[in-house]
Amino acid sequence: MTSLNHCIKFQLNITDPNLLFSNYYEKLCHHKQTKVYVAELVQPACPVCHSSTLKHNGHYVAKVRYLTSNASQPVLLELHKQRVICCSCGKRSMAQTDLVGKSCRISNASKLKVLTALTTDRSMTSIAQENNVSTNTVQRVLDSLDTPFRAQATTLPEHLAFDEVRGVGHKLHFICLDGDNHRIITILSDRFKKSIVKYFEQFPITIRKKVKTVSLDLNAYYQAIAGQLFPKAAVVIDRFHLVQMLNRSFNQLRVQVMKNFNPGTYPYRLLKYCWKLYLKPYSKLEKKQPYYNQHLKDYLTQEHIVLDGLDLNPALKHSYQVLQNFTAALRKQNAHAMKKIINTTQTVGEKMRGTLTTFKHNQTSVLNAGKYQCSNGCLEGINRKIKQIERTAYGYGNFDHLIARIKLEEKDAVYKEKSLSCAA
Ligand SMILES: [Zn+2]
Repeated sequence: MTSLNHCIKFQLNITDPNLLFSNYYEKLCHHKQTKVYVAELVQPACPVCHSSTLKHNGHYVAKVRYLTSNASQPVLLELHKQRVICCSCGKRSMAQTDLVGKSCRISNASKLKVLTALTTDRSMTSIAQENNVSTNTVQRVLDSLDTPFRAQATTLPEHLAFDEVRGVGHKLHFICLDGDNHRIITILSDRFKKSIVKYFEQFPITIRKKVKTVSLDLNAYYQAIAGQLFPKAAVVIDRFHLVQMLNRSFNQLRVQVMKNFNPGTYPYRLLKYCWKLYLKPYSKLEKKQPYYNQHLKDYLTQEHIVLDGLDLNPALKHSYQVLQNFTAALRKQNAHAMKKIINTTQTVGEKMRGTLTTFKHNQTSVLNAGKYQCSNGCLEGINRKIKQIERTAYGYGNFDHLIARIKLEEKDAVYKEKSLSCAA
């Protein structure tokens, strides 16, 4: 019997000395061929007075789900837990083991495996199937975690990034990130001013004054909140959004000009098919080597195509200059040049004028984009990841579950980061 006990323990990776395996059998359980290992759980001493003179008082039988390598063949442990009465103090007790929680039917090893699986991009249903537990159990394991995004609630990073992310029930949630190490500081269930102010006001004003920059998209609503909460911080408009707005305005004007020509004519094709070249930095255009362009049916350099296209309309040309000069100034962090471009009086088309007016209204924060290095690029990455988490689960109905899952997967990323830095 001892050899059988050792053999099963070796196979199941169990080391608890109070567990003695005596038998095993197979049976059909929920239409699955299940392996059952029978063991007696011994109570060595009284948990109250630690006396070892005990009177046996029968067994309590618990069937516990255990790890299995083959999901179609579940493994059950049939634990016969000893019930005893202490001869010294008269207290009744039942044997317990680290394998499984008191009055729980799922082994801790299975829960740990579920938890590990939850850190990867997988649906809860597939995790549940693999571990022979129900989806509710996976959810309970997720709920049992209550780690905050950040360990300390008494400090704030110097650089913050604000944005919003679409989550439960197509609602927008406010998200705030540490601009330096790209860790999530918080995700709030909505994006109302009241909630944001309430969250940040739990940090004393002395801590909030240490925040140096807050980067965000062109949302006047957040700008006001950031100014109110962080009096010493510079509000920086994200450079990506600035360039995106300019690109969009230029493209709209290009299409407008294009539609003045008949489809199929040379100017029409010049503006329609070579749109990518206009958005490329002028310095990077090929200026010497002509190549055969199928749409234009001619050998031309990239520079030639762009200049030909711009010659069609003076507003388009000015609009192009604004776009190119602004992005170049942004790259070189030349706030002075940016200011000059924003205040240009040339005819640049209706849309571009609108964009420039918006920039003018937010001039300080737009120019800050040229002064500070920070951007919201990290947030776009996190947003993409959150979208992926939602997509894998076919959407979440519960905000807390979504947050728990984001935390877990983020934690995983932090662990990976740590191990990488240790290895380097
Ligand atoms: Zn006792």
